[in-house]
Amino acid sequence: MNDTSEKSSPRPRATILGGGPAGLMAAERLARLADVHVFDSMPSFGRKFLLAGKSGLNITHGEQLEAFLARFGEARTLLEPALRAFPPNAIRDWAEALGIETFEGSSGRIFPVAMKASPLLRAWLARLRESGVSFHARHEWQGWTEDGALRFGTPDGEATFTADVTVLALGGASWPRLGADGSWTPFLSARGVETAPFRPANCGFDIQWSEHLLDRFAGSPLKSISLSFCGRTVKGDFVVTKTGIEGSAVYALSAALRDSLEAGANTVLMLDLAPDRTLSQLASALSAPRGKTSLANHLRKKAGIDGVKAALLREIAGKALLDDPAKLAHAIKNLPLRLDRPRPIAEAISVAGGIALSELDESFMLKKCAGVFAAGEMLDWEAPTGGYLLSACLATGRAAGEGAARWLRRS
Ligand SMILES: Cc1cc2nc3c(=O)[nH]c(=O)nc-3n(C[C@H](O)[C@H](O)[C@H](O)COP(=O)(O)OP(=O)(O)OC[C@H]3O[C@@H](n4cnc5c(N)ncnc54)[C@H](O)[C@@H]3O)c2cc1C
Repeated sequence: MNDTSEKSSPRPRATILGGGPAGLMAAERLARLADVHVFDSMPSFGRKFLLAGKSGLNITHGEQLEAFLARFGEARTLLEPALRAFPPNAIRDWAEALGIETFEGSSGRIFPVAMKASPLLRAWLARLRESGVSFHARHEWQGWTEDGALRFGTPDGEATFTADVTVLALGGASWPRLGADGSWTPFLSARGVETAPFRPANCGFDIQWSEHLLDRFAGSPLKSISLSFCGRTVKGDFVVTKTGIEGSAVYALSAALRDSLEAGANTVLMLDLAPDRTLSQLASALSAPRGKTSLANHLRKKAGIDGVKAALLREIAGKALLDDPAKLAHAIKNLPLRLDRPRPIAEAISVAGGIALSELDESFMLKKCAGVFAAGEMLDWEAPTGGYLLSACLATGRAAGEGAARWLRRS
């Protein structure tokens, strides 16, 4: 057995399990006080963070703090102090201190100017190494030994490691090939820590499309539409996929849609293909005589509907409707998309579920495991896309790191 538990420094020893944004932030807060060791099962650190960078790395959001906090729903109570202690402007300052300039887009979303994660991650890991943090890749945490040491599977066999304090930051269970796969849950359950089952969040949904629609339009984006469900309307874009729909407007409603499907309800998302025009404007435009103009051209000229929008209209409303301007206008503004099921967790942007928030004290320590703290997506909260996910991972990582530092000072 490759036993890594030899301790040579008089400083306390802190272990961080999981080298994503939450774990790295916890490491940063502990580095002044302790010898910090970050372990990750993957060959390198921050893989999901790098993937988030592929779509620009929406790191936080610039809206008013009250609106920002409201995005976390019921989890707000536990998360609020951490989010207030590391709010969006502090995240921007933190990135800037790493040499990463950020900007606020027209939607309020905040991105690095470079629109990627790699420069930020590189600078962050370098600064952590300079401050003495040690990194251990290819170490998969596999619970505790009987005498309380951390157990790891490594390419060289099992290894153990003792620590004065531990921060768990093992992520959720989406995109498992990037490292976070939820395999840690049995180790916490064995210690009596309650976890809620993982469920997809910010996910796509299955819809049975016709062969014709799939052949011609799978992968096509629908821009400037609105989607409505249960009294909430979201303007934006989505994509027709081989299996159904996905994209930002769908993600924004996905928690309610998922809950409805899980409850066994008939779940219908209403699509408005022309949200900037009223029903009567559309109906009167479409009533204009079309002469020899084809219906497709008439729709395009009078209602701005063509391509995948026209195909969806035909697919869902049926051809019979298309000759009646009033019914056609109504269908353009109220196209029902009947959803079958959410896409699997592995494809979701994030998850709901994980460690029950009731298991944590206000410093993010597990009440049933003294000296063990937890942060990031492995906690049972969910939030929409828009920078809220990374904001909460960074903020809870920071809070757990500070909680762990206070705990070390006290003990
Ligand atoms: C495609 C995509 C795009 C995204 N874009 C954005 C975005 O623009 N803005 C935003 O706010 N959020 C975005 N997110 C979400 C965001 O990336 C995550 O919420 C965030 O990375 C979670 O951070 P974390 O540190 O909690 O977990 P993770 O980043 O998942 O890190 C957990 C780490 O723990 C390691 N680990 C897991 N199990 C073990 C084990 N047993 N032993 C050792 N190590 C283990 C993993 O290898 C991983 O490195 C995106 C997600 C996806 C999938």
